[in-house]
Amino acid sequence: MAIVNSENDLMEKIVTLCKRRGIIFQSSEIYGGYNGFWDYGPYGVALKKAVEQLWWNEMVETRENVVGLDSTIICHPKTWKASGHIDRFGDIMCDCKTCKTRHRVDQMEDPTTCSNCGSKDLTPPREFNLMMKTYVGPVFDEDHIAYLRAETCQPIFTDFHLVRIATRKQLPFGIAQIGKSFRNEITPRNFTFRSREFTQMEMEFFCSDEQSMDWFYFWREQRMKYYTEKLGFREDELQYHDHDKLAHYAKAAVDIEFKFPFGFGELEGIHHRGTWDLSRHQEYSQQNMEYLDQQTNQKYMPTCVETSVGLDRTILALLTHAYDEDKAPTKKEGMEDDVRIVLHFVPRIAPVQVAVMPLSKKLNEAAEKLQKDICRFYRTELDTTGNIGKRYRRQDEIGTPFCLTCDFETESDNSVTVRDRDTMAKERVNISQLRQYLDDKIYGC
Ligand code: ATP
Repeated sequence: MAIVNSENDLMEKIVTLCKRRGIIFQSSEIYGGYNGFWDYGPYGVALKKAVEQLWWNEMVETRENVVGLDSTIICHPKTWKASGHIDRFGDIMCDCKTCKTRHRVDQMEDPTTCSNCGSKDLTPPREFNLMMKTYVGPVFDEDHIAYLRAETCQPIFTDFHLVRIATRKQLPFGIAQIGKSFRNEITPRNFTFRSREFTQMEMEFFCSDEQSMDWFYFWREQRMKYYTEKLGFREDELQYHDHDKLAHYAKAAVDIEFKFPFGFGELEGIHHRGTWDLSRHQEYSQQNMEYLDQQTNQKYMPTCVETSVGLDRTILALLTHAYDEDKAPTKKEGMEDDVRIVLHFVPRIAPVQVAVMPLSKKLNEAAEKLQKDICRFYRTELDTTGNIGKRYRRQDEIGTPFCLTCDFETESDNSVTVRDRDTMAKERVNISQLRQYLDDKIYGC
């Protein structure tokens, strides 16, 4: 039973746990941190890589009609002129003159009042561009300005023909990419939800205009299924949010929102982008971006449907979903039950899937051997310090679904005790059956 009292409480607890267990912490902490930048520690990076791999497998490896790309973070500055980011990628902000809080006008409940202190003394709204600038080459002047990409999808558009020709793909097909994006967010907040450096996982699906709405609905459904079936989110934690205001070139747009500790917020956007991006790159590069349909012999500009999700927001959603506190019974009479913090990650993405523990120091060697044998198949950890109860707690806090204990019978009966994180039940499993047992539980196969 969860004993988290309020939503703010939950966010605070998640942030505290993440720091204590080396999942996520502030970047450059020794210098006081750097607002909007976060480091992932050993368990955080394991979780991040597992989710990346799951997304890649879901979107690329198991689909014949989607291929991958890994483009540079800095690309030709004209890319961002063509995409509209240099001229228009900004938030309208205003400042409270009383308490100095900066607000995004589109997110203010009442754009005439500061939500922090209630003052009505606000500056007029001003636009802030979110592109991060740098210089490329030896001279630091206007001609050498370049930008860190604000989204991973633009190079997908500029590389469209190179990828298409190299892979001999015909429409409809998609190109996917995972990578860092940078936005000079004016008000980074809510832990990793809004940061200045973050990872996106995006897929641009190219098709004909006639088919584009069918594909839009296809991806809308597929992406929701991924969250419930692969990441284990509950239906009440997710909702669609259809946009009522659409870009002039778009036929539809929907966000998949997750119930974060501060309320529902965008996790992923599924956007019909029309022919906008390819047409703009055609205009700015003077290269023909059209596609020749070999069956009909007709040339046309492909329409694009995009799925775009932040990896960092996915991790925050997973932590929100997984965090729980319950009462673990103590064995000592008269003592109160202990509060147990546990992360209920689905086993396939847990940072450590299997912890191996010797019951006594004398059994270290046997445990080490077992861990070596299974570390090729699962993310494992050898946990040798502290009493077994403490080790279970430590593993619960990082979300390890299975702990294997080698004890004094292990050598004679070739078995270990497997302890389940969620039920805390223990069962004896023969080492020769262990692969099958863990595969079943972790991958359902
Ligand atoms: P928001 O309205 O929250 O600023 P957006 O509509 O600008 O988001 P997109 O440009 O559609 O976001 O980016 C796609 C995805 O990238 C988002 O759904 C989100 O998961 C992620 N993302 C965008 N901005 C950030 C950020 N500053 N920090 C972390 N993730 C982000």
